[in-house]
Amino acid sequence: MQIFDYIVVGLGTAGSATCMTLARRGSKVFGIDTYRPPHTMGSHHGVTRSVRRAYLEGTSYVPMAMKSWELWRKLEVDSGRKLLVDTGNLTIGPSDCPAIDGFLRSAQVYDIPYVRMTAREIQKRWPQIRPADNFIGGLEKEAGIVFPDLCIRALLAEAEKAGATLLFNSSVEKMIEKDGAVTVYCNGESYVASRLLVAAGGWTAKLLDLPDSIIVPQRVPVHWFGVGNDQSYSLGKFPVNFWQIPVENDKGNHLKYRELYSLPTMAGGQKVKVAFHNGLESCNPDQLDRNVSENEVLEIKNMLSHYLPNLQHRPVSSEVCMYTMTADGDFYLGKKPGSRNIFAATLAGHGFKFAPVLGEILADLLTETNPEFDLQLFSPTRFTTAL
Ligand SMILES: Cc1cc2nc3c(=O)[nH]c(=O)nc-3n(C[C@H](O)[C@H](O)[C@H](O)COP(=O)(O)OP(=O)(O)OC[C@H]3O[C@@H](n4cnc5c(N)ncnc54)[C@H](O)[C@@H]3O)c2cc1C
Repeated sequence: MQIFDYIVVGLGTAGSATCMTLARRGSKVFGIDTYRPPHTMGSHHGVTRSVRRAYLEGTSYVPMAMKSWELWRKLEVDSGRKLLVDTGNLTIGPSDCPAIDGFLRSAQVYDIPYVRMTAREIQKRWPQIRPADNFIGGLEKEAGIVFPDLCIRALLAEAEKAGATLLFNSSVEKMIEKDGAVTVYCNGESYVASRLLVAAGGWTAKLLDLPDSIIVPQRVPVHWFGVGNDQSYSLGKFPVNFWQIPVENDKGNHLKYRELYSLPTMAGGQKVKVAFHNGLESCNPDQLDRNVSENEVLEIKNMLSHYLPNLQHRPVSSEVCMYTMTADGDFYLGKKPGSRNIFAATLAGHGFKFAPVLGEILADLLTETNPEFDLQLFSPTRFTTAL
């Protein structure tokens, strides 16, 4: 049996950052992962992740997004790697849709520079983008893109440098909470700590025995559309764009809007990344269908034919990633209800940009330090009545 101050299960986005922060604060921390992150089996693969601060998902996220931006820059210095590139981020939809409303509210409350654009202005500036006449855009000029593979490598390298013990290619099979401590079992070994964080992405609900009504893994098909030598889709010329599109016939999905996003081509690349952000299927992470069907390709091509029509040809490749969605779309951060020593982090499909600040927040929660941010929105107890 090996004894630590803290154990972190899952060394992807949230787990790698938490290990780094705890180790830097001088704690004896043990991190464990089924694979060797970064990898393509969870939620952090796919080359790029957008980073923004005028947060359309709610003003509560903005102070965290601002701090995270600073911490990404600091991690670049600490690790000697380029992790974050600047680029504009455009939110598009009808003027009364929740995304536009949330974007404008966050930008205005926190005085974040932005430009409000009409459909005509958007199309004039980026002829490849075709909003409907009643759509408007909110452009955050100082947004960016991070590279998840490099980021996770940097976070894990910094964690080890600060003294964290990391075990890869080993899956936690069982956790037992007893007498003020938690014991984790894996490959015939046991590890004990006073506190444990489950940051296992799509596997978190299963490990913590939480119902689907609270946390559900979702299958996310992602497509790459070739643009050849067309430079108008490249970083700096084509903004990250997020759409909220009214749905007329949702085939029983009960969606009011379909959400779509695309990211520019990166240096040397000739592919635009495109995916739907909602209307996704729930999945079992151990039996995830990683093949993208012809219907799924047709569905996205059909949407692109209206809004990004030059991309409506066949994608050069498609892959499957995972979201770990909460019932209300907000993060789930904190102590598992009914437990004294087990904490959880679930990022609801939009958490990569927050990784370094989540490392600080989760380290604060584990060490019973007052967090710098208001975390009420993310409290696991908000679902307690549903248990
Ligand atoms: C296609 C796609 C695009 C996205 N775009 C953006 C974006 O632009 N901006 C943004 O901010 N966010 C984005 N996200 C969301 C973001 O990537 C996720 O919220 C984030 O990566 C989730 O991190 P995590 O730590 O919860 O999971 P992961 O990073 O998947 O880490 C979980 C880890 O737990 C490990 N694990 C699981 N079970 C066990 C076990 N029993 N024992 C040990 N280890 C275990 C797994 O192997 C994995 O490494 C996107 C997600 C997807 C899928």
